[in-house]
Formats: sequence, structure tokens, C-alpha cells
Amino acid sequence: MARILAVANQKGGVGKTTTSVNLAAGMAQSGRRVLLVDLDPQGNATTGSGVNKSKLERTVYHVLLGLADASNIRMRVESGYDLIPANRELAGAEVELVDLPNREGRLRAALERVGSEYDFILIDCPPSLSLLTVNAFAAADQVLIPMQCEYYALEGLSDLVGTIKRVRANLNPRLEIAGLVRTMFDPRNTLAHHVSQQLEQHFGDKVYRTLVPRNVRLAEAPSYGAPAVVWDKASKGAQAYVALTEEILKGYP
Ligand code: ADP
Ligand code: MG
Repeated sequence: MARILAVANQKGGVGKTTTSVNLAAGMAQSGRRVLLVDLDPQGNATTGSGVNKSKLERTVYHVLLGLADASNIRMRVESGYDLIPANRELAGAEVELVDLPNREGRLRAALERVGSEYDFILIDCPPSLSLLTVNAFAAADQVLIPMQCEYYALEGLSDLVGTIKRVRANLNPRLEIAGLVRTMFDPRNTLAHHVSQQLEQHFGDKVYRTLVPRNVRLAEAPSYGAPAVVWDKASKGAQAYVALTEEILKGYP
């Protein structure tokens, strides 16, 4: 059965999607069988994987509502992993799920059917602690938390950790934090160093050693329809994600 990692942080713009697509591609380059689930109605992981989200007839929305099987919705993308795509339609799922049975466990049930075909399943979460994110946490073994080292980062973290604890108590006792990834790191910024140190103090070895720097190639990659680790592997940003991939894979011998 695949190891399932939810990439989550309720703050927007912290690097969840960039981390998700680069890890998916990086793991695929290391020979792992990877499924990436786009669970954000913005569909950025879909676009970043080179898939035109406006042309999709069926997406993760249909999987969650039980209208389609994950095995029929997934698609192989050029960067070597499988993708369950998303688009704006997913925004409606939040409301429609509320009245359905097992509303928090629907993604988990859907992924159980394809889990044996993968080494890793990555879930790119939306920027909220909504029912979609709870579905991701109920399905996951671990949560990977990308964060920017800025003042309010720590504040949001306690809400996130609180949600993880609640899901662990009520839905998924095996859920744990895989680690925190420091993204868009700017070494010239004193506050970034300060926050980074605080993170290490609070979370110890749960903070990945690899620092992802701010690097424009990571931001440009989506417009080329491939993660930076595929499109410009020599760039500083891609190299950081290659190192992060190795660091994460080392944790799962
Ligand atoms: P989230 O999924 O958390 O909202 P994204 O991964 O979409 O965050 O990142 C937000 C924006 O910042 C995007 O435009 C992305 O391309 C850019 N970005 C992400 N990581 C980096 C980085 N390390 N350096 C430069 N730009 C980045
Ligand atoms: Mg995103």
C-alpha cells in the first residue's frame, strides 16, 4: 500500500503546490510510482503538471462524490507520475459532501482502491482547513507542511497542528506530521533566519534540513507545464527540490 502524504497549510501562497509537483516529479525520477491528487479547486497542481484544467470532463470532484473511480480519472503526465486533476468544479464539493455518508472519509475510500499500485500518493491541499483538507488528513499517513519563514507563519501553525490532532482523535489515529519544509527562503532576510530557528526549536528533527530558496525558475515552471525538476533541473530551486526528495525518501527505506 502506498504511503500517503498530504501537503497542507491553510495559508495560501506558501509553496504547497510547488512542493507537491516537484516532489511528485522528483520521486518519479527516483523510480518511485507516484500518484498526485490535486485537491484544490484552483487546480494549480493540474496546470503545473501540464494538464489543461478547463478541458477536463471528470476530475477529483467526481471521485469524491462517488460518480467515478480514481482508476478511471487518473492520467499519466509527462513528468512521469499519475495525476488526479482538479478544476473549479471542486469548489462545489465542499457543500455537496456535507449531506453524503462518510463525508470525511470519501477520499480515503477512493484511494484505498488504487493504493497498491503506488509507492507514494501526494495530496495537494487547498488553502483552508475545510472538509476537503479533512478528507486529505483522513486519507493520509502523514502531513507535509510547507511554510514561509515569516512572522505570521508560526501563528497559523498552531491551528494546523490543532486540526491534525482532532483528525487523529476522531478519524485517523495513524496521522502524524512528516515534516516542515521551509520554502521561498531568503538568506538575506534576518527575520527569516529568526523564524527558521524558532521552527527548529519547536519542531526539532521534524524540520527538513533542506531549505528551498526563493528562485524564479520555480515560479516560471507552471507556464511551461512541467515542474522545475523536469523543466530546468540545473536551477537552484530545482536542485533544492531534488535534495528535499532525497531527504524525504531516506526516511522510508
Ligand atoms: P500554495 O500552493 O501554497 O498556494 P504555490 O506553490 O502556488 O503556493 O506558490 C505560490 C506562488 O509562489 C506561486 O506563484 C509559485 O510559483 C511561487 N513560488 C513557490 N515557491 C517558490 C520559490 N521557492 N521561489 C519563488 N517562487 C515560488
Ligand atoms: Mg496551491
